[in-house]
Amino acid sequence: MSSKDWIEKDFYAVLGVDKAASADDIKKAYRKVARESHPDHNPGDPKAEERFKAASEAYNVLSDSGRRREYDEMRSLFGSGAFRRNARGGGQPGGMPFDVSDMFGGGGGDRRFGGAGFQDLFSSIFSGGQAGGQAAPRGPARGRDVETEVALDFGDAVRGVTLPLTLRAPGVCDTCHGNGAKPGTQPRTCPVCHGAGVTTRNQGSFSFSEPCRNCQGVGTVVEEKCPECHGSGGVTKTRTMNVRFPAGVADGQRIRLTGRGEPGERGGPAGDLFVHVKVRPDELFGRTGDDLTLTVPVTFAEAVLGTDLRVPTLDGAVTLRVPPGTPSGRVLRARGKGVVRRDGQAGDLLVTLDVVVPARLSDEARTALESFAEQTPPAAREHLDARVRRVS
Ligand SMILES: [Zn+2]
Ligand SMILES: [Zn+2]
Repeated sequence: MSSKDWIEKDFYAVLGVDKAASADDIKKAYRKVARESHPDHNPGDPKAEERFKAASEAYNVLSDSGRRREYDEMRSLFGSGAFRRNARGGGQPGGMPFDVSDMFGGGGGDRRFGGAGFQDLFSSIFSGGQAGGQAAPRGPARGRDVETEVALDFGDAVRGVTLPLTLRAPGVCDTCHGNGAKPGTQPRTCPVCHGAGVTTRNQGSFSFSEPCRNCQGVGTVVEEKCPECHGSGGVTKTRTMNVRFPAGVADGQRIRLTGRGEPGERGGPAGDLFVHVKVRPDELFGRTGDDLTLTVPVTFAEAVLGTDLRVPTLDGAVTLRVPPGTPSGRVLRARGKGVVRRDGQAGDLLVTLDVVVPARLSDEARTALESFAEQTPPAAREHLDARVRRVS
């Protein structure tokens, strides 16, 4: 880490503490940020990883009283109004002579901070009204979208239904308040990093920090684990809400409920809830768009002679007239007995007639059927017979 980094970075803001914070407060604040942003708890979240690294870096400096003093001095020097006047060339004749290059310990020959480089450095410090060195607080953040799946009964999907929906999301354990230790015990300072959460390697004027492997950067280790969260500090929290599924919702449909996802942070809006709908099949009815379908077995005699059929609908029953001479597979339509749409119009119930062939006949029935066969013309399949003759 270079001195330039120190000027540009507000380690206090990174940890969310005041400049006057005690060493203990800084340690606590660091642990909190490290725990919340730890890569293990935020897999695949680059922002959390960045925050975790920034917190490690900040803590690395602020946890060491000597380094913290150096850091504070450098920041106050650069952030002071006196320095600004000098830097902008206005100057005060009586002001202290100011040799910037001294600050970096590199003498006049330090090329990193020579010439135009200073201009850049100053503008980044003094622009945006941040002369005090406080980083801008992070703005409101929208809550995350949540996806879930729900299985509806066939009739509920057709008619519409309101159901309680239980969502699960990770949250802080209430028993140990997130520190993972059994109530009445405390996490112990990590023996490897001595509570810093980071291990540091120095190389010239730079130092590299990495999260401590022993404590995963938290700075403490838990000996007696919280029985609720088993030491993780996190639990799965459940949230229940009533969700209205509109009439006619279909299998495979995704419903968006604006603002019903995870709550926003710092006054930001909540995310959305997306519900993937599965509709359980009904034992009788099928569905094609807004039409319901039903297959009704009829006898050969019913199809030939015609009959009135009493068939169920989703709400009640209807009588359907089967005209004499109705072929197998014919679809009859019961208007308005399908799915009611949003505009109040409804689909139809489509009834498919299935002429069933009896597997067994009584002697009387066989005799009657043979007699029937003698008195009816053969099936109309001359066109097939012609083809058979030609190909054989
Ligand atoms: Zn716990
Ligand atoms: Zn450690």
